[in-house]
Amino acid sequence: MHELSIAESLIKIIGEEMAKHGLKKLLSVKIIYGQISAIVPEALETAFEILTVDTPFAGAKMEIEVKPMVVRCRQCGQEFSPSQEERMIMPCPQCATEFGHEIISGRELYIDNIEAE
Ligand SMILES: [Zn+2]
Repeated sequence: MHELSIAESLIKIIGEEMAKHGLKKLLSVKIIYGQISAIVPEALETAFEILTVDTPFAGAKMEIEVKPMVVRCRQCGQEFSPSQEERMIMPCPQCATEFGHEIISGRELYIDNIEAE
């Protein structure tokens, strides 16, 4: 499971961050992930729960926010978010060019915020 290894690295990063600030218990964590990063949020949450049983992370609230995909038109430079149905072809709202746009965001996965005490 892809999400299991992601959860593992998240826990490692959060643990390091908490140690740096002398924090003992994780209260909540907010994750941002891109629409096309191929993450199943429910699977990530489950993996996180499984891995944190009996640790200072147990019971922490996990908030996951999706960041929409944004592309830049290769023809006119217009930035836009293609809709779900248009993912294969992405017509530019300004000049209708359908292919070859540059993906600006939508692939990311990062920790936005950690609350701990
Ligand atoms: Zn365009």
